[in-house]
Amino acid sequence: QLPTFENGQERKTIVLLGSGWGCMSLLKNLDTTLYNVVVVSPRNYFLFTPLLPSVPTGTVELRSIIEPVRSITRRCPGEVIYLEAEATDIDPSKNVLTIKQSTTVHSGHSGKDTSSSKSTVSEYTGVEEIITTLHYDYLVVGVGAQPSTFNIPGVAEHSTFLKEVSDSITIRKRLMDVIEAANILPKDDPERKRLLSVVVCGGGPTGVEVAGEIQDYIDQDLRKWIPEVAEELDVTLIEALPNVLNMFNKKLIDYTKEVFEQTNIHLRANTMVKKVDDKVVICQVKDAKDGSTKTIEVPYGVLIWATGNAPRDIVRNLTTKINEQKNARRGLLIDDKLLVDGTSNIHALGDCTFSKFAPTAQVAFQEGIFLAGHFERLHEIDSINYTLQHPTANDNVDRLSKKLAKLESKLPPFVYNHQGSLAYIGSERAVADLVMGDWSNISAGGSLTFLFWRSAYIYMCLSVKNQILVCLDWAKVAMFGRDCSKE
Ligand code: FAD
Ligand code: NAD
Repeated sequence: QLPTFENGQERKTIVLLGSGWGCMSLLKNLDTTLYNVVVVSPRNYFLFTPLLPSVPTGTVELRSIIEPVRSITRRCPGEVIYLEAEATDIDPSKNVLTIKQSTTVHSGHSGKDTSSSKSTVSEYTGVEEIITTLHYDYLVVGVGAQPSTFNIPGVAEHSTFLKEVSDSITIRKRLMDVIEAANILPKDDPERKRLLSVVVCGGGPTGVEVAGEIQDYIDQDLRKWIPEVAEELDVTLIEALPNVLNMFNKKLIDYTKEVFEQTNIHLRANTMVKKVDDKVVICQVKDAKDGSTKTIEVPYGVLIWATGNAPRDIVRNLTTKINEQKNARRGLLIDDKLLVDGTSNIHALGDCTFSKFAPTAQVAFQEGIFLAGHFERLHEIDSINYTLQHPTANDNVDRLSKKLAKLESKLPPFVYNHQGSLAYIGSERAVADLVMGDWSNISAGGSLTFLFWRSAYIYMCLSVKNQILVCLDWAKVAMFGRDCSKE
């Protein structure tokens, strides 16, 4: 990397933590010739999460919704270093972070200055782990969130989340396993009924979309392959509140309920999961009329847990080191320029923050674009500061000082432009709450909205390659259907 500019000014180092919506949007929009840019993420690809619920059933192939980080860094104008590692500690007082790389192949040196590196063999996997430190001038924390379990007993052990590619593979395998196992059992065996019960906990968009996709698979494909099993396979969606999709307009919430009734997705609203064991989900059901409660058990063969986000350990750990973050329970507290409260050079964006914005890709993406512009302005400020400290005969110090004061006082805040919410609800229908300009909203649900949903998601894909692959997947499913292989 280039340490200095032609005028002798040092190039500052920005470290981006994460390869998700926030950091990849920032990277794509940043003028990377202005900084030394290092991306640190254990996941060496960007994942297009809006189509992840389509992966377990094979509506979309997982390779179609991922983009390698290196294909993004290669297109950057400056040199960008990518390190496949996770940040394990951030020391804001020294501007240093500790990263841990896990690899199956270790060449003996990390290719970097190894003075602060050490490598150990993991006791558990026999895999070499490299632990090293990195210095930053600016740090951007975009590590996302982890699935929340609310410490409900049994959730972590028995359920599958839907957050990463590996989760979608697990759900697929589990689904195909229970289908084949139930097929061997006689029709009147209660174990067969249990195995053929798919339970999704959490009626937010993730839960609704995955329930819709699984029901589509049953209705459109499994009926052709194993009709006797398909007719018994049952999808139940459990939601603690009276409604699903609470961020949507009431009309669309009611429409979603209607579609669920028509497609046989069993919605259990006002039902809060309290405990999970290896075969049943134990819930407390609240009577909507008199508020009384009772406990029920819902047996399951496949359990998908989608009850929202919780902060990652690295974020929790950082909040303990900064006084201004001591009340930060749900994510890093940031100001209107995405600067982490209590720091001068750590910015954060996306799901790892707690702000007035919802934890969505839309927000993280726009925050990434904002930070790219912000860092360009910070570079301009740094350059003027450098020139003022090392003026040449040609520099007009007065004019530069005024420009600097103006730039510093007029750093614009992040302004979020909400374009609306979209969700797939199954049977080729979607719901959309769209914002049209400052004054009007459009709420729509149905098959046309489904076509709009597809077009919008194609438009949102970060690369042309992904756009083409997703369209091909949809065409393939329309022509040949989805299969019932385990892989
Ligand atoms: P992420 O995209 O989660 O990225 C976090 C990155 O940080 C990852 O690369 C991860 O590997 C990395 N990381 C984790 N720990 C560390 C560490 N210790 N050190 C370094 N790197 C680390 N939003 C919408 O607006 N529309 C949708 O349709 C939509 N659909 C969704 C569907 C699903 C199934 C899910 C799960 C979410 C969906 N979302 C949607 C929400 C959206 O995906 C998130 O809001 C968005 O991903 C947040 O972006 P992020 O950059 O903050 O985090
Ligand atoms: P969410 O936070 O939106 O919804 C979780 C749901 O789980 C809530 O309705 C909550 O009441 C319910 N819940 C919590 N604990 C429960 C319990 N013990 N028993 C039963 N129900 C319980 O979570 P999500 O759907 O995972 O979404 C996370 C974020 O990602 C949200 O900001 C969402 O908007 C975004 N997202 C958006 C889309 C989209 O726009 N299409 C798709 C997926 C996710």
